[in-house]
Amino acid sequence: MAKKDQGQHCSFCGRPASETLMLLQGIEGHICEHCIEQAYQIIKEELGTSDDPKRKGSGSSVLELKKPKEIKDFLDQYVIGQDEAKRTLAVAVYNHYKRISQKVTDDEVEIEKSNMILVGETGTGKTLMARTIAKMLNVPFAIADATVLTEAGYVGEDVENILVRLLQAADYDVKAAEHGIVFIDEIDKIARKSDNPSITRDVSGEGVQQALLKLLEGSISNVPPQGGRKHPEQKMIPVNTKDILFIAGGAFDGIERIIAARKSTNVIGYGSASDQVLDKSNMLKYLAPADLKKFGLIPEIVGRMPVITHLDPLDAAALKRILTEPKNALVKQFTKLFAMDGIKLTVKDEALDFVVEKAIEFKLGARGLRSIMEEILNDAMFETPSQSEVKELVIDRAYAEEKISKNTKLAQ
Ligand code: ADP
Repeated sequence: MAKKDQGQHCSFCGRPASETLMLLQGIEGHICEHCIEQAYQIIKEELGTSDDPKRKGSGSSVLELKKPKEIKDFLDQYVIGQDEAKRTLAVAVYNHYKRISQKVTDDEVEIEKSNMILVGETGTGKTLMARTIAKMLNVPFAIADATVLTEAGYVGEDVENILVRLLQAADYDVKAAEHGIVFIDEIDKIARKSDNPSITRDVSGEGVQQALLKLLEGSISNVPPQGGRKHPEQKMIPVNTKDILFIAGGAFDGIERIIAARKSTNVIGYGSASDQVLDKSNMLKYLAPADLKKFGLIPEIVGRMPVITHLDPLDAAALKRILTEPKNALVKQFTKLFAMDGIKLTVKDEALDFVVEKAIEFKLGARGLRSIMEEILNDAMFETPSQSEVKELVIDRAYAEEKISKNTKLAQ
């Protein structure tokens, strides 16, 4: 602290020394306590709403509780269709963060976590939804692939490595990581092979599920900061998973048959078949926890992931909308890329239809849209930057067909 010299003044607000309690001296000039306080408020506000990923979610004060409708509206900007999944996810996320922000009360009502499982074909938007939610909430987000996980002691990745990624996403801000979201992809691949608990535990399935359970239940995990295998001398970071939201996704190939079998048994058990009109084209609508257990998830995991929902397969109309509608739709991205070279890109509607047909034909779903667009535009993206006379590029169906017919890579 600098001694106050009555001749000095604050270099920020100009207050004379006589009107301040203290003046701190810098290399050039001084600052008074009023300005320090104001600067501190500005810093707090800035950090709280900052988009800088390095500052994301530092602690719980940053979390702004969004209402389910607002969450769904946000998702609508990025994810096409999947209304039911969006509504379920919005409520689960809302309840989760409400739970985190609840004050300790003495009514003994403890709100349990709403971890969730998303069931749907690959490329229908499961990861996209989880990522979009994390973006909206500005909380750290990590994706873990369940297929590489093993129970401790086996070759592969320990489940704690999931938390390493979350810590990295949070820039090692443990408090922020503890409020983050983890997406566990391909959870169906660690299903046990038969519905009956095995006597010899299988490494790839049940053992991993047991290991995962500890994270889901909410426990303090000691995480090796750089990942990899734990070894005794290593310094560990304790991470509490109590408030981390886990969202798991999987295609659960063949689960429709399990659902259908359950539904038909019910029909026989409870009344005539005509009581229930089943939409056979989308059996996932009737998904229930029992089906996930039957598929091979252990009951404890199903119990710890109480919110389940499904994603619909994407039809041609949905794929076409994905090309143009989301905030960062592919066509918008390519248009921007060309615009940076001063070229106006127009992709005709007929060309979009062609892209969708190919994505369906190659069985690539939404995942394939990007590679097909890349193939169509690659020659132009190579040549036009050196052709200053080109100011416009119109992609019609014939142009798209010609570029794709040259290319056999995608068809495999
Ligand atoms: P998965 O269901 O296998 O997790 P992803 O969410 O990773 O699928 O989807 C792959 C890509 O396909 C996304 O990055 C996105 O570009 C696109 N996509 C898939 N589904 C949708 C959707 N419903 N709305 C918008 N884009 C989608």
